Amino acid sequence: MKKMGLTTKIFIGLVCGLITGIILNKIGPNYVSDTLLVGGIFELVGQLFLRGINMLVVPLVFISLVNGAASMSDIKKLGRVGSKALLFYLFTTALAITIAIGIANVINPGIGLDMSKLVTSEPNIQAAKPFVQVVYEMVPTNIIAAMSQGTMLQIIVFALLLGTSLTVLGDKVKTITDIFNQLNDIVMKLVDFIMLLAPYGVFALIARTFATLGFDAMAPLAKYMFAVLLALLLHTAITYSGLLMIFAKLNPIRFFKKFAPAMGVAFSTSSSNATIPVTLETVEEKIGASKNIASFTVPLGATINMDGTSIMQGVATVFIAQLYGIPLSMNAILTVILTATLASVGTAGVPGVGLIMLSMVLTAVGLPVEGIALIIGIDRILDMTRTAVNITGDAICTTIISKLEGEFDESIFNSDN
Ligand code: ASP
Repeated sequence: MKKMGLTTKIFIGLVCGLITGIILNKIGPNYVSDTLLVGGIFELVGQLFLRGINMLVVPLVFISLVNGAASMSDIKKLGRVGSKALLFYLFTTALAITIAIGIANVINPGIGLDMSKLVTSEPNIQAAKPFVQVVYEMVPTNIIAAMSQGTMLQIIVFALLLGTSLTVLGDKVKTITDIFNQLNDIVMKLVDFIMLLAPYGVFALIARTFATLGFDAMAPLAKYMFAVLLALLLHTAITYSGLLMIFAKLNPIRFFKKFAPAMGVAFSTSSSNATIPVTLETVEEKIGASKNIASFTVPLGATINMDGTSIMQGVATVFIAQLYGIPLSMNAILTVILTATLASVGTAGVPGVGLIMLSMVLTAVGLPVEGIALIIGIDRILDMTRTAVNITGDAICTTIISKLEGEFDESIFNSDN
């Protein structure tokens, strides 16, 4: 009953935030709205919530991954779960981009568009790192620096190695393994505390975003947005539901009902990383996924698996190609699928990075990187939506692997709390 209360509250926060934001935007600039609400109360509550969950991300990812890898009774299971997760993440991402390119070619968002109507704010586009660099930078040279800067891939690599050593050493290092186990409980309790603020935080963040953005900015890019949103919806409704039914034999509607609050938090924060605590808690305590599998696949997925982001990149590439009148050959399309899958691995789970990584995809097929400037103005809204899809992919993977490993608690899934 209490848990259901929080879910409903988060949802109410989201809807009220949306309505409040749009009303404030329509009223226009004034002291009460700008200084007191948007720049005052909303900013305060939103930031308190964001900082609260961000505070937990590094300790949670580190502790939960060490714990996850250490609790895989043997090294074979670790390899099995790890390779299944990796396969799932790469396959669903490639499929997501394919869907996105297909939809974009049907909707043709960039054809017949008056370029002068597009937002022409001064672009500030940073170049994406070359992929080779993304790979070697996965290994930290200084683990403390990685933690202090929150460099997720590096933290993951170190945590996995540490957890694996604990598994290999077994009983000899039982005390340390137990300590990590207890630390995991402690950090999950901290998540509970911060989540009490979630409904208000979600309300404040959403209200602030929509009060600032409004809907008007979106009109010229409506077709592009529609294509991205449609692809996100189809990927969620068809790919995810299908995989869930085929491999886990679970009812997708029930799954999404239970997972919705985590999607709400992803939507309001635009950050997979910041949502890790909530994703973890939801898949373990409401969906019924195994703790040791979730603590392994969720942080990993939040860092390397970004189906929503790759969907935006697929549609954006076709959109920009159409705007500039450059046709994409079959070869170019395959290159987009490959580079966007890799870009998804290199995209950090924080707001806006997907757009920066788009430059890697555009460059790979010889499209002008300046094209990004045209979609930057409305990316915030799409970022919110794609982040919700990004974390859903992680949760689906976790659920399926738990089921395949025979570690899924069906009674949690079927219960109503
Ligand atoms: N905001 C996204 C995430 O955290 C990444 C992106 O597409 O910019 O998952």
